[in-house]
Amino acid sequence: MKDEELSAYYRNCHLCPRNCGVDRSSLVRGICGEGVVVRAACAVLHRGEEPPIAGEKGSGALFFTGCSLGCNFCQNRQISSGGYGGELTVEELAGLFSRLEKEGAETIDLVTAAHCAPSVVTALEMASVKIPVVWNGSGYESLSTLDLIEPLIDIHLPDLKTLSSERARRLFRAPDYPAVARAAVERMSRSHPLEYKHGRLVRGVIVRHLVMPGLIEESKELLRWYAEHLADKTLLSLMVQFVDIDGGDDGPVIDEAQYDELVDFLDELGIEEGFIQESGDERPWIPDFTRDNPFPSAFSRPVWHC
Ligand code: SF4
Repeated sequence: MKDEELSAYYRNCHLCPRNCGVDRSSLVRGICGEGVVVRAACAVLHRGEEPPIAGEKGSGALFFTGCSLGCNFCQNRQISSGGYGGELTVEELAGLFSRLEKEGAETIDLVTAAHCAPSVVTALEMASVKIPVVWNGSGYESLSTLDLIEPLIDIHLPDLKTLSSERARRLFRAPDYPAVARAAVERMSRSHPLEYKHGRLVRGVIVRHLVMPGLIEESKELLRWYAEHLADKTLLSLMVQFVDIDGGDDGPVIDEAQYDELVDFLDELGIEEGFIQESGDERPWIPDFTRDNPFPSAFSRPVWHC
């Protein structure tokens, strides 16, 4: 993408469903909080993602600064709304993709990049990596932005956070989230049917859902919808280790009985394809992006830090 075309996207920004329409080349910012230049906190070889994304050596995860959704429980708050990160030119971004590939990354894992999609697309065109490229987002995606990225994306990894408009309003001030996310994941499932090579997923969609303590019935509603509309076309990743960033060690968690109830419910619905996070004894950790390696060393190896 040429410079002028690129900056046109940011001068009147409608890259996500917030549709702020602001000129990000000025000092004005939309809900994502970001300007024209891409910012990111770090790139790591990350073993914490789902097996098809992480493979053996880890995904090449790049954590972008800014987010247009802004969940009030976000564990990446330092970068999603806290503004932590350093600037990267499009050329530097392309260099980082190539470096991750050289370091052995199994995939390029783009974590929350919708608000800088035109720059990411341009960098991907420059880098032309051979490993699968993963769009790892919140599910709050504009169809026009999906049009822009689709030719360069191999695997979609969207969240499907809630199908309750009222819940979406309370959690991230986006009552349109259910309609937007449903349309986005259905569209992804049509454009990216599951495809395997030598037993390894090379194209497709993995839909993530995080079960929140106290909201299991809402999760069941969502899983019913998933079973009806997506189960035969995508993989499900059910996550149960909710991190209550404000509650600390006393925050609520999904207990063993609730975990078993969810596993039984998946059986009832006939959902067989996918992944379910273990319900561990240890409390999940919160990444600290100010460190070279924001994650425990068993989970990630740092490649670049801002
Ligand atoms: S990407 Fe940012 S500025 Fe653009 S519409 Fe979304 S929140 Fe607004």
